[in-house]
Amino acid sequence: MNKLPHSKRAAIAAAGLAFTVATASQVFVTAGSASASAAPATQAPTPAQAVPAPAGGQSSAAQSSAALANKSLATANRIYRSGRFVNVNCRPGSLPRGSTAAYKRFLTRVTNCLNKAWAAQFRKVRMPFSKPRLRIVTRKVNTPCGRWTTGAEAVYCSADRTMYMWISKQQLRQPFPLGITRLIAHEYGHHVQQISRIWSYYWPAAARASKSQKLALSRRSELQAECFSAVFMSTLRGQPNFGSREWNYTVDWFRKNGAKGWPQNDHGRGPTQAAWMTRGYNSGSPAACNTWKASARATL
Ligand SMILES: [Zn+2]
Repeated sequence: MNKLPHSKRAAIAAAGLAFTVATASQVFVTAGSASASAAPATQAPTPAQAVPAPAGGQSSAAQSSAALANKSLATANRIYRSGRFVNVNCRPGSLPRGSTAAYKRFLTRVTNCLNKAWAAQFRKVRMPFSKPRLRIVTRKVNTPCGRWTTGAEAVYCSADRTMYMWISKQQLRQPFPLGITRLIAHEYGHHVQQISRIWSYYWPAAARASKSQKLALSRRSELQAECFSAVFMSTLRGQPNFGSREWNYTVDWFRKNGAKGWPQNDHGRGPTQAAWMTRGYNSGSPAACNTWKASARATL
């Protein structure tokens, strides 16, 4: 039932969920899936150009200490010390079927919640915060990061700091509020990586890495965005449509299907994704999401 697109390109994740709850029997019915979180695949120009080395070149000691300093942006970022998420009283509300206007309102409400929640975390550790832009589209558009990746339903582009959310006909017909919220919170996670400068380590490192190292770095980045998403999701726990049944269903879905639709292992295996979701959700704090310090095995 899952119509997961199998793109030849490297960057499509399939992760959509749709289900209905039969009130009496509490039976979950999956209704196909199409949503995807796209890696900022055709990514962004690296945030800053390196200053050219003076004539004569840099000593290798200087080079490796620069690399170490950069790596600490990811492994020891201050955002990890921001503690548990504060309650921002987010009420995403319901999401009726078939209404593009309602869908847009829902996405906007969730984005406002994400803005409040993350702004508070940045404030706690005195790091500058800025909101991402949200662009809701009903057809796949090009972004400054390149062409829309086939099959993806959402993209974060760091070049214009915009979350592009595509409303598909299928999602519109049978929306799954928790699944959609998890998706936008994942894209927001990439924005957090951008403004906290975790990506100031990641993208330059990826640019000079071998193919397998690139995939390993991509997994750390994606698993972290997913974990950040789960931290936010934990603040919604218990609200209508955001109960533990819906959450467990979602994690389970990822455990089984999270890696399908990705031609290469750039997002982590299903069980690995599920593990980081669970970790973020249970801790409620960005500290749980330091994938950059985790073992290779924990990020496979
Ligand atoms: Zn992603």
